[in-house]
Amino acid sequence: MSDVREVLRLRPGAAVDLAGHDPRATPAGPDSKSQAVAELAGLGEELDALQEALYAESRRRVLLVLQGMDTSGKGGVIRHVAGLVNPQGLHIASFKKPTEEERRHHFLWRVERQVPRPGLIGVFDRSHYEDVLVVRVDELAPEAQWRPRYAEITAFEDRLTADGVTILKCFLHISPQEQRERLLARLDDPAKHWKYNPGDLVVRARWSRYQLAYEEVLHRCGTEAAPWYVIPADRKWYRNWAVATLLRDTLRDLRPTPPRPGFDVDAERDRLLRHDPLG
Ligand code: AMP
Ligand code: MG
Repeated sequence: MSDVREVLRLRPGAAVDLAGHDPRATPAGPDSKSQAVAELAGLGEELDALQEALYAESRRRVLLVLQGMDTSGKGGVIRHVAGLVNPQGLHIASFKKPTEEERRHHFLWRVERQVPRPGLIGVFDRSHYEDVLVVRVDELAPEAQWRPRYAEITAFEDRLTADGVTILKCFLHISPQEQRERLLARLDDPAKHWKYNPGDLVVRARWSRYQLAYEEVLHRCGTEAAPWYVIPADRKWYRNWAVATLLRDTLRDLRPTPPRPGFDVDAERDRLLRHDPLG
C-alpha cells in the first residue's frame, strides 16, 4: 500500500490551514513528469481491472468527489484518471448553478439522484460542498441556512457509507499564481476561449474567502469513513498521479471479487467445442 494516503489525508476533526499545504509539493510520489506519466499507465491497468471486478460484483460502489477552485483540474482528473477505466463503469456528474427545479428542492436532492449504482465508480465534478462554498462566499443564502449544512452533509455521507458507498474526497489545491497562468493560457488559445468565463475573475478576487470556506469544509466534514485529501495541484502530473493512486488504494482495500460462476466451466467448454452452429 502506498503511503501517499497517509501524507495527503487530513485527520478528521483537525483544524486546517491551507497556507501550510504547498500546492507545488510532490510528496510520496514521483518527482518528475516523465516518471509520473509512466507510473500512471501502470495505475491505469490496475484501476481498470479493479473497476471491472467491482462491476462484476455489483454490490459496492465508490464515489470520487472533486472540489477545487476554477482551473484546479477537476476536468483534467476526469479525463486523465477516470479516463483510465471502462466508461461503462463510470457515473460522472457535474454540479453547476442549480436550475429552477433544483432550487425548489433540498440542496441534497440533486446530489442524491447522482449517487452511483452498485458496481459503478461515481465522479462528482463539484458537489454538495458548493452549498457551503459558493453559497457562503457569495452570500446566496443567509448563514442560518448554510451553517446547518455541514452536519447535514456529514449525515448524508454517513448514510451513503452505510449503503456500501466508499467516498473519496479530493480537494485540488492550486495557488493563485498557477490559476493566473491557466486562465492566461485559456485566453491565449482561441480554441480554449469557451472555457473562459469573465465571472471567473470575480470568483478569483474572492480567493481568500474561498480558502477560508474550504478550510471549514475540510475541518468540519472529514470523517474516519470519508476523510478529505488535499492534493497539491499546481503540477498536473502530480495531481493525476496522486488521485489515481488514492483511487487505486481505495479499490484495492475493497477487494472486489466477481461472483463464482453459476455453471460448470468444464462442461460449458465441452459443449462449446462439441457443437458447431453451422454443422
Ligand atoms: P464550472 O465548474 O466551471 O462549470 O462552473 C460551475 C459553476 O456553478 C461554478 O461557478 C459553481 O460555483 C456554480 N455552482 C455549483 N453548485 C452551485 C450551487 N449549489 N449554488 C450556486 N452555484 C453553484
Ligand atoms: Mg469554470
